[in-house]
Amino acid sequence: MGIRLTQVTTIGRIRGVEDYPRNLTELEARFSREEDCRAWLVRLRWPEGFRCPRCGGGKSWPVRGTLLECAGCRSQTSVIAGTIFQDTRTPLAVWFRAMWWVTTQKNGASALGLQRVLGLRSYETAWTWLHKLRRAMVRPGRDLLTGRVEVDETYPGGLEEGMRGRGTETKTLIILAVEEDDKGIGRIRMRQIPDASAASLESFLAESVAPGSRVHTDGWRGYSGVSARGYVHEVTVIKRSRLTASELLPGVHRVFSLLKRWLMGTHQGAVSHKHLDYYPDEFTFRFNRRKSRSLGKLFFRLAQQAVIVSPVTYDLIVHPSPKTVRVRPQPVGVT
Ligand SMILES: [Zn+2]
Repeated sequence: MGIRLTQVTTIGRIRGVEDYPRNLTELEARFSREEDCRAWLVRLRWPEGFRCPRCGGGKSWPVRGTLLECAGCRSQTSVIAGTIFQDTRTPLAVWFRAMWWVTTQKNGASALGLQRVLGLRSYETAWTWLHKLRRAMVRPGRDLLTGRVEVDETYPGGLEEGMRGRGTETKTLIILAVEEDDKGIGRIRMRQIPDASAASLESFLAESVAPGSRVHTDGWRGYSGVSARGYVHEVTVIKRSRLTASELLPGVHRVFSLLKRWLMGTHQGAVSHKHLDYYPDEFTFRFNRRKSRSLGKLFFRLAQQAVIVSPVTYDLIVHPSPKTVRVRPQPVGVT
């Protein structure tokens, strides 16, 4: 089949040849058999070649299912152990279709949509799969934003309506960083934070924006320590600037409105707060790749990340660690 081969240098820790199907026809031709899916995952997981975790040997052969047996010490290693596919009883070929579908939905993926397209018997399975895949949408140790970066937080307003008038005492606060590039908006980073305290804001900055970058915020006092953290801090106080909030930080407001529209559209606002963490991840994954013309490349990136992200159980998805109550006092200087 016409599999695209592109030589790449280094993408984070990942090195090697990018080899992925370009369209649905290629996906189906290439990944209908379990052994083909397994062989491809082996290459993603060990780009430099398989290494036995026990003896370090480089020679192995497949035995059954997802197991490889080391030619040196005869120990068996599962290709999917320690990945988001761990313990699955569903054929990898079905997972591959799920990844393809998730990455090719322009407006985001819903559990009902996934259930229908794969013919899954239970909605719960589709829902759990989506959550697992979302966890693979953030690459561990990803690059930090640089240059000039707008930062702001918001309560995704539509969500409160989606909560059917309840639960507003645990409002969800989302923080967003938007990198400026020549054409406007570059890459983004986004996540849920427990509150708008300096500690929460600065911990997000540390994991998202490279020191030395120019961080543009409003006058909220939670940002007052930003320059002490090694950033150039640009503050615009709304009251004094005579600009509206959206003119002041146009990048973040543009992205926030897209996020809200997406949450209300694809998910019809039915996103519970305890799960909200992973929706920004999916949104970020799609947004940062919005200019990519290649469907296969998104699928490839998701699969690449799926084998390096730790597995998560259904219980942990349903009952994430409790978060503290999120309360943000009114920012200083907002009229
Ligand atoms: Zn071995």
